[in-house]
Amino acid sequence: MSKRPSPISATVDFDAEGIQHGFLKLPISTNESAWGAVMIPVTVVKNGSGPTALLTGGNHGDEYEGITALLKLANTLTPERVHGRVIIVPMMNTPAAMAGTRTSPMDDGNLNRSFPGDPDGGVTEQIADYFTRVMVPMSDIVVDLHSGGRTLDILPFGAAHVLPDKDQQRQALEGAKAFGAPYAMKMFELDAARLFDTAVESQGKIFIATELGGGGSTTPERMAITERGISNCLIHYGLLDGEIELPDEPQVYVDMPDASCYVQSEHTGLLELTLGLGDRVRQGDAIARIYDMTRTGASPVIYRAERDGLLVARRFPSLVNMGDTIAVIAEVVESLDGDQ
Ligand SMILES: [Zn+2]
Repeated sequence: MSKRPSPISATVDFDAEGIQHGFLKLPISTNESAWGAVMIPVTVVKNGSGPTALLTGGNHGDEYEGITALLKLANTLTPERVHGRVIIVPMMNTPAAMAGTRTSPMDDGNLNRSFPGDPDGGVTEQIADYFTRVMVPMSDIVVDLHSGGRTLDILPFGAAHVLPDKDQQRQALEGAKAFGAPYAMKMFELDAARLFDTAVESQGKIFIATELGGGGSTTPERMAITERGISNCLIHYGLLDGEIELPDEPQVYVDMPDASCYVQSEHTGLLELTLGLGDRVRQGDAIARIYDMTRTGASPVIYRAERDGLLVARRFPSLVNMGDTIAVIAEVVESLDGDQ
């Protein structure tokens, strides 16, 4: 059975030349607003023919590097500089971003677990459906800007997934490297089925995934990496003129081949990580201690690395519960071009 058209309408004309700032409007009817709408800000910059790049932030509402960089880009990008079309959505999950939370306060929806979406679902599924059926088909390249949010801190990297279409995988991997973050990654997802990434890749489009920091804030260094990365991607795919700027140090390539990369807590208590982001670790090394906060005099539980690698992500808050990811250890590799 075919789905009904999306209830979302755009106040911008995606085919018009020049720059427009407007909204994707999703009708809602609530106690606070009987005939209301969720207003998702969007900017379209178009100049002649060329590819379309869709730049998205705020897929999770508390990941501020991408949100901030895209709000800045919407203020500064001018049509004369663009070859083709750049569509900027700084806060895909606007209700979550407005609340400063990962998921939506309207329906508890985690947008990046709601794809391909449903026009008859909750607000979050309706947003996902609009991107799947309207925004992605008009795009050639999608750059989705994530970070760790309030509960994780992640090394800045551009990433591509292992895909059945090797040409599509190669093009995404080249884009992930061209993003020019200090790290580039071939990514293993714990659960890929409902990701935005998969909704884009299954339409044959180029998807660049990123993680750009976290902790629920930004730093000048990470903002610089994010802004430079967006500009590098636009240059790489021919939408902007200019030279790609790479980091001073050679890019480090990392691979996350399987689930053993993720260290999850089996205890509740106070977390002390004994290594920092970017530190190298060997299998068997202690990486964290978790202390029982209900008493003094109890020895902490020691967590050890199950593999050699590099600490690419860590839990940000010091309080930890059972099941929380406390560390992610990725494998350092010479090249990302292997055929797997
Ligand atoms: Zn995210």
